[in-house]
Amino acid sequence: MSELAYPYEAPASQALFDRAAAVTPGGVNSPVRAFRAVGGTPRFMVSGTGPYLTDADGREYVDLVCSWGPMILGHSHPEVIAAVQDAVSRGTSFGTPGEGEVALAEEMVARIAPLEQVRLVSSGTEATMSAIRLARGFTRRTKVIKFAGCYHGHVDSLLAAAGSGVATFALPDTPGVTGAQAGDTIVLPYNDLDAVREAFRAHPGEIACVITEASPGNMGVVPPADGFNQGLKDVCAENGALYISDEVMTGFRTSRAGWFGVDGVVPDLMTFGKVMGGGFPAAAFGGRADVMAHLAPAGPVYQAGTLSGNPVATAAGLAQLRLLDDAAYAKIDAVSREIQGLVTEALTKEGVAHRLQSASNMFSVFFTDRPVRDYDDARTQESFRYTAFFHSLLAAGVYLPPSSFESWFVSTAHDERAVQRIADVLPAAARAAAEATA
Ligand code: PLP
Repeated sequence: MSELAYPYEAPASQALFDRAAAVTPGGVNSPVRAFRAVGGTPRFMVSGTGPYLTDADGREYVDLVCSWGPMILGHSHPEVIAAVQDAVSRGTSFGTPGEGEVALAEEMVARIAPLEQVRLVSSGTEATMSAIRLARGFTRRTKVIKFAGCYHGHVDSLLAAAGSGVATFALPDTPGVTGAQAGDTIVLPYNDLDAVREAFRAHPGEIACVITEASPGNMGVVPPADGFNQGLKDVCAENGALYISDEVMTGFRTSRAGWFGVDGVVPDLMTFGKVMGGGFPAAAFGGRADVMAHLAPAGPVYQAGTLSGNPVATAAGLAQLRLLDDAAYAKIDAVSREIQGLVTEALTKEGVAHRLQSASNMFSVFFTDRPVRDYDDARTQESFRYTAFFHSLLAAGVYLPPSSFESWFVSTAHDERAVQRIADVLPAAARAAAEATA
């Protein structure tokens, strides 16, 4: 890594990172935060307002990560903060049912037609884990189809992503996942419906469900090809399996009804997180009432959580969702388009081969000249150019995801001033990307 890649030091963040490394593996509580893909010192943030984050060294950044999606109204939105303060003033957790969780579930169900019932949990991982268990309990089958490059949280069976080797030798993709768990997971290339049909032919009566990101953002943004999601739904229906649409990232972001609001494909089960929690740990899974009826205490499939439906988290989520009307989405879509245009313009001017891919207001840049339809395509990009691009922007006060395999996120708070700050520094970042060497 050349010195140029880290244009300045971040001493306060570095001191915190050193302290963290002594007491926390790798110094972080979620791996991507450690900057390992891009190198350098992870910035420890101390506050956020609107589209801006401020780090421990007192530097301000235009935030294009938005906490990986949840902060769709920007940081410290006054109405969300007021709802949280109001909830906190009445207590932080009761371990009983409460009205907030009913209201949040009602708001979600009202927005998404196929979502007949929801169960609240605390993380997206919990949501997908529980949805898979429910699908298995409902169908009395064991196998799960997932797609390479789709991330559904760190659920054991869904981390098994090593393609045919997993199927053949039941090899876990990460130590700690058993061969049995890996062996029950069939990993297929994204956007390949024929591979899905073939898997159903090869495992008759064994496949409980297909889980897919409604529109993937975890290998960078790779939208489903026309008809792919509907095809998945149809193949599942023909074979007695459930179609699970993971909307943890897209839910209430890509439209008021998430990706369902974009493509209208009706899933059997859906999973949510991020936006619905307003920056707090709230997530959910839900869908067909007849399937959800199999969950305890209504049915035999066990699922529970001490902090599920937490009153502070549900108050934050509800306040955020209620502010997300059509005007809010129009604003987010417009600012997203504007930033996409600026990025393409800057990179094109410098002659940098790239693909800007978007799904509604989610977008990312691949440093390649070919369309990216699946994980193998995504891996052909010249990630070293992203590293140079990232560090140039970071030094200039724009915070991008510290990995080229992630979506960028914007919010209603990204106003003209924030966009101008990005526009001002993009030419230099594009030049850095053009000059980067592997
Ligand atoms: N599903 C998708 C599509 C995600 O993007 C994520 C997280 O990024 C998850 C599931 C897991 O959510 P969490 O990190 O809240 O466990």
